[in-house]
Amino acid sequence: MLLVDGSFSLTDADWQVQLEGFARAVEDPLVFPRSDRVAVGVLQYSGTDVAKGTRLEIPLTRLTDDEAVKAFTTRLRSIERLNDVSNPGDAVHAGADHLATAGRSGTTWSMCMSTDGEPNAGEGLADAVAYAKNKGVDRYNVLALTSGVFTEEQARAVYGPHVFGGGRVNAARSIAEFSSLISGCLNYALDLAAIEVNQAVQDWQNSVPLIRAKSTIVRTFFKTVDSQEVRTSGRLRGYRDGQELPGSPLTPIDATEIVVGPDAAAGRERFSGSLNFSLPAIWTTGRVKLVPELPGGVRCEGGRWTADCGTEVEFRPGGNFRVSLFAASWNENGTVREPSFADLYEQYQRMHDVFPVSNASASFETLNLDGRPANDDEGLEEVNSQLWVDWWTDFRSGTYDTRTMYHAAILGDGGGGLAMGIGSPISSGWLSGAEGLYGTGYARNRGAHEVAHSLGREHIVNADQNGRTFPVLGAKRGWCGEVAGTFTDDYPYWTGTSQGDRPTLGPNGDRDREIWGVSARYFGDREGLAITSPHTTYPMMSYCNSTRGDSQGRWIDVRDYQALYEGQLGPDATAVAPSRAPAVAAEPASVVLRGQVDTATGTATFRPTMPAFGVTAAADDPEGGYELRVLDADDQVLHRVRFQPRFPEATDEPPGGDGRDEPTVGTFEVAVPAVPESAARAVVVRDGQVIGALAAERKKPDADRPTAAVDRDGETVRLSWKGRHAGPHAPTYTAQYSADGGDSWRTYAADTGATEASAPRWMVPGSPAALVRVIASHGLDATVVTSEPLAIPDAAPQLAIRNPADGAAYHGAQTIRLDAGAYDAETGLLADDAVSWRSDRDGELGSGRILMTRADQLSEGAHRISATVTDAAGQTVTREITVSISRLPAPTPRYEFGGFRPPIDPDGLTVVEAGRIIPVKWTVGGEEPGKSAVVSATFDTPGADYRWISTLGSYHLNVDTPRSWAGSRHRLTVTLADGTQHSTEFEFQ
Ligand SMILES: [Zn+2]
Repeated sequence: MLLVDGSFSLTDADWQVQLEGFARAVEDPLVFPRSDRVAVGVLQYSGTDVAKGTRLEIPLTRLTDDEAVKAFTTRLRSIERLNDVSNPGDAVHAGADHLATAGRSGTTWSMCMSTDGEPNAGEGLADAVAYAKNKGVDRYNVLALTSGVFTEEQARAVYGPHVFGGGRVNAARSIAEFSSLISGCLNYALDLAAIEVNQAVQDWQNSVPLIRAKSTIVRTFFKTVDSQEVRTSGRLRGYRDGQELPGSPLTPIDATEIVVGPDAAAGRERFSGSLNFSLPAIWTTGRVKLVPELPGGVRCEGGRWTADCGTEVEFRPGGNFRVSLFAASWNENGTVREPSFADLYEQYQRMHDVFPVSNASASFETLNLDGRPANDDEGLEEVNSQLWVDWWTDFRSGTYDTRTMYHAAILGDGGGGLAMGIGSPISSGWLSGAEGLYGTGYARNRGAHEVAHSLGREHIVNADQNGRTFPVLGAKRGWCGEVAGTFTDDYPYWTGTSQGDRPTLGPNGDRDREIWGVSARYFGDREGLAITSPHTTYPMMSYCNSTRGDSQGRWIDVRDYQALYEGQLGPDATAVAPSRAPAVAAEPASVVLRGQVDTATGTATFRPTMPAFGVTAAADDPEGGYELRVLDADDQVLHRVRFQPRFPEATDEPPGGDGRDEPTVGTFEVAVPAVPESAARAVVVRDGQVIGALAAERKKPDADRPTAAVDRDGETVRLSWKGRHAGPHAPTYTAQYSADGGDSWRTYAADTGATEASAPRWMVPGSPAALVRVIASHGLDATVVTSEPLAIPDAAPQLAIRNPADGAAYHGAQTIRLDAGAYDAETGLLADDAVSWRSDRDGELGSGRILMTRADQLSEGAHRISATVTDAAGQTVTREITVSISRLPAPTPRYEFGGFRPPIDPDGLTVVEAGRIIPVKWTVGGEEPGKSAVVSATFDTPGADYRWISTLGSYHLNVDTPRSWAGSRHRLTVTLADGTQHSTEFEFQ
């Protein structure tokens, strides 16, 4: 029996939403099965006594078919309100009377009451409940609509002592939330299977450390006791020190309802497999208790849970991650090719997603290249060498701290990525078409892979499994062509797949210990990017590519995540004050000779000489296998120093490649004392042989004073200078810019023959007294020429709305995550209070780069949501998207199930071998673009593993069934969002 409150406190519109919510629940076969064993009736109550204040609107009716449902809901939707005082005791009494007369004995008699206030008339609840129990009613459940005057505490105080039979008091904060809880009011309790608290990788035991202030998704998994599927809504409550946290209870971030079946893990790869919550930042610190709440109640067994079926987790202090991201920029047939602000911001976010840190910061810079980098390692080595110039300048000017990573992003598809070496802060990589917010596939996390090398992480290898590059002490090989140093730890997790053995994110096989990935910012948006399955996606530090085309391609594994947290990115490592080089005189007293050695060809080449900015000459390295000598015209040695070049890790090959042996090209940068006039050349010596030489030039290199100006288009800042030289060889130049009087420098071009460099204006910090300097390099010499102070205007901030997607629709009390990227050249990533959000209907929504709100806190209808960012100079930028808000979800369309496809016998029994993977395929018609109609697909018994190969329209699910199923029959059911179910039976041999 539905006992519906018809008192006058609801508005007419809310009354209609309430009726509609009940009608939708009745229409849903997953709430009321089409069966002659289930009957439902509606009783309205409002008035001063049982006779006048209760009205049986619809007597108990069996919902045997669609026609019966239609007749029932038509009556329900047109119920007229009694519009009087509230008399819930009378309703319990009258409901019990109706069940006693019309109900069938031997069935469960259940009452679900809606209320929006305290009782103020009629029979007392205690007496009424005693009467109902005496009449044989099994269960009494209350759904309370709380408002300003009727609080949740009051609802619990008034109704809590009287609910029975597993019933409970559910308090809704708005009519929209109320309507989303109605279906669950009729549910019985569901079994809690897991509360997965996930920040990047996690298992069901929550054994991976949680880090303060890192974006957190909580996935709650449930199962039914029998093989029936039911639809339920749910919420998540949070407590710290016994106090409920602000915003509690949270509502789901994606769908407000899910379908729960007998196997809690069956939907783990899908949004719809769990109720998913995005924790507010203020929840993610210290010890927090998380308690899932279902309208029908939660049951839990075993010692893992608190008494109220929750779990306690601790958010530990985390470290910082800092990165300077460079947009590799070149002119191609008159067009500048370079990553945009959104592209660079996305690279930063991907690193933030996978690294175990509390804070991250980024600066976005440009690096002018003379042309498109070559499509091989040499192209990347060239970019890295130029990045080194920026790093070196930062280091020598005292503005470098050892934990800033330097990474260049290259637009286009020219190859892989390359870190200058394990632990070297410098790397670069091609974006390969995966640069956008929704970019997928192998290249997606290439930037994070390279930066992880910079943070000391090696490739995933295992010598026992894959061998070495040569016996005994050769480099170790991985499963997909990777190579890593002789002493790298063997990776412990791998599994057999149809493609051969593959490394996994953690230990696969035991559901409780399997490591799954999440990217919090994609929840409610893109399933393939939000959830990473260890059955289809392989570790980020491998070369193996996901078998799911819409996925992350690669994702960080548990070993590297924990190692970074305990090491380079941990709070201890990053809490240490940055190590800075001492301040130095502006005039170079010595030079750095740079270049590369190639062990394959036995040669060395020099790159342009750089000023050493006062650094003392490099100490002799007795272990170094190479020697640098400065010679006079008679080959007398003026200076000699032994050194060891730095070799990169092997490059990222396309998946399935053979990989390569250890890299052969190493780089060196060796500071030598100021080169005397008598010097004739420098040579690199290996095993007594000269393998490369650089001749001195007769005259020092020079350039006219450089200058900078905003281009006529207003979008570009251009640095220009004139070179001057005597002799046959033109100097090369490095162009740098300072907005702080020369304390720090940004390198806009390095080692170039060009006499100008440019940068997008938004990247160039303004200054009333900016400086430009040009380093001219020639032979063994380098000269520095600095401009007069120049006025460069303040750069406007950059802003990109990352979430919601334009046109997104929300309903009920669904959580909405507003997320914007905001950056300003003068300050870097902007603080939370710099971004403010506004709705054209409802006005100010609040501030923050990430702001959580709920659909029921916004007016119904279409909203233009705008984000505005303001920089320190008061410049503002606004961006806008449109979202639609409804109190109830859009009515579910009826889908056409196209039937199961071969090898499944569509009519009869399919005979399969237990322990093998069954490819289950079917089609669904009538889906909206991008919206899956399938809410679950599962066997009637837990134990199988489910791997989605394709969804939307043409479905393909591989089910790995346990060997123990041999000799039994099991039914697989596909449940669609409209509540219809389609089953097929298998016999296992
Ligand atoms: Zn690599």
